[in-house]
Amino acid sequence: MEQGYKLRCPSCETESMTTSYTEYQVEHFGSVLLNVSSCQRCGYKHSDVMTLTNREPIAVTARINSVEDLNMHVIKSGTATIMIPEFGATITPGPYSEGYISNVEGVLQRLEDALIFMLSSAKGKQLKKGERMLKKIRHAREVKPRFTLVIKDPFGNSTLVAKDPRKLRRRRLTRRELMSAKFGEYALEQKSYH
Ligand SMILES: [Zn+2]
Repeated sequence: MEQGYKLRCPSCETESMTTSYTEYQVEHFGSVLLNVSSCQRCGYKHSDVMTLTNREPIAVTARINSVEDLNMHVIKSGTATIMIPEFGATITPGPYSEGYISNVEGVLQRLEDALIFMLSSAKGKQLKKGERMLKKIRHAREVKPRFTLVIKDPFGNSTLVAKDPRKLRRRRLTRRELMSAKFGEYALEQKSYH
């Protein structure tokens, strides 16, 4: 399923954005729409994923123990936070946070790219901390993957997909977690949460 029409670009403010939707069927999850918008004038790009059903605020945790686990699929919406406690990494969604469909390897790649960008202007303690994190990520990608990946989404539009479902743990976010999560207050507003 794909369609295209021109939208106003938030960057150059002309009617030059085309947008497309691609539908994916995700095992044990359902239908996911990947939306990619790009501006033909200034090159601005944005993507997000959404689902068509009403979902619960969730946390999905995967234990990554092997190179094969790096192929686990990751569906991350624009409202999801990704955490890798062993690296001290928390990636919270910004106002224009992107959603994407990728795999664990792709998440590490994005994290590495963001870190390298950040390190180019970091100093002192922050620089040391960032360099340590970068070393851990590279070690995990190239030598020995051994870490925990957590994805939390107040709207439940994100998930992890593993060949072996026993590698995953799924639970509903607590009210307290929702209150401190980015975008969590909107989820609380949207439905009564007990
Ligand atoms: Zn533009």
